[in-house]
Amino acid sequence: DPLIKLTDVWKIYQMGEVEFAALKGINLEIYEGEFLVVLGPSGSGKSTLMNLLGCLDIPSKGKVCLNSKDISELDESELALIRGQMIGFIFQSFNLIPTLSTEENVLLPLEFQEEGRQIARQKAAYLLDIVGLTDKKKNLPSQLSGGQRQRVAIARSLAVNPPIILADEPTGNLDTKTGDYILGFLDGLHEREGKTIIIVTHDLDIVKYATRVVYIRDGEIEKIEKRTKNEP
Ligand code: ADP
Ligand code: ADP
Repeated sequence: DPLIKLTDVWKIYQMGEVEFAALKGINLEIYEGEFLVVLGPSGSGKSTLMNLLGCLDIPSKGKVCLNSKDISELDESELALIRGQMIGFIFQSFNLIPTLSTEENVLLPLEFQEEGRQIARQKAAYLLDIVGLTDKKKNLPSQLSGGQRQRVAIARSLAVNPPIILADEPTGNLDTKTGDYILGFLDGLHEREGKTIIIVTHDLDIVKYATRVVYIRDGEIEKIEKRTKNEP
């Protein structure tokens, strides 16, 4: 069964009297182990789609299933629980808490776990080591570079070891070298840990990592392309 399944999904934004369809009948199944890249120009509906794939929003029409469960049949706390277990989010704006240190930001998702503080801190230490930020663990987000903040966001998204990583423009605002490093890191999670990676972007360079590319335009899927990794 697919991890995420969208069936005839529409998202209609209401602005006063005016309705705008940002997604128009999206059908998409995402399977375990995919490295899916959703590519489209600005305004094509990528962020809207990302919010639906991440079960952060519900469709105006159609069905979104996560792990074969129709998310519209879950209440907010059930949805938060399954989402928290299944999906690690990496947002473009990083969504770091400005008043918390690097380490505290990474610890945040672990607060809701059963395990004790000690184990959580060990996990955070391990994750900060993986992303190369051990020496910045006491820094606030404002004291970090763009690439470092992105790496904090990645460490935090991995904290609960979710099977799915969902990233919105993970290389946006980063220099090429740091962007490549971040992508290489996500690629490693896919290759070595079998994580399902979903990246929403307008950056064509990311396509080389993909096993499948979904092209969207004006709220519709234009085409879907299967790929062999690292081939042009
Ligand atoms: P992308 O991420 O590809 O730039 P978005 O999903 O952000 O695209 O937006 C798709 C379309 O929906 C755009 O035309 C945008 O203006 C519109 N849109 C997005 N969010 C809202 C909203 N909350 N209210 C009204 N229109 C919106
Ligand atoms: P910025 O994003 O502002 O360029 P960073 O501190 O994120 O600053 O990165 C500085 C440089 O160090 C980048 O070129 C990046 O590729 C490299 N770098 C960052 N983390 C690591 C790491 N863990 N191992 C190797 N190189 C790294």
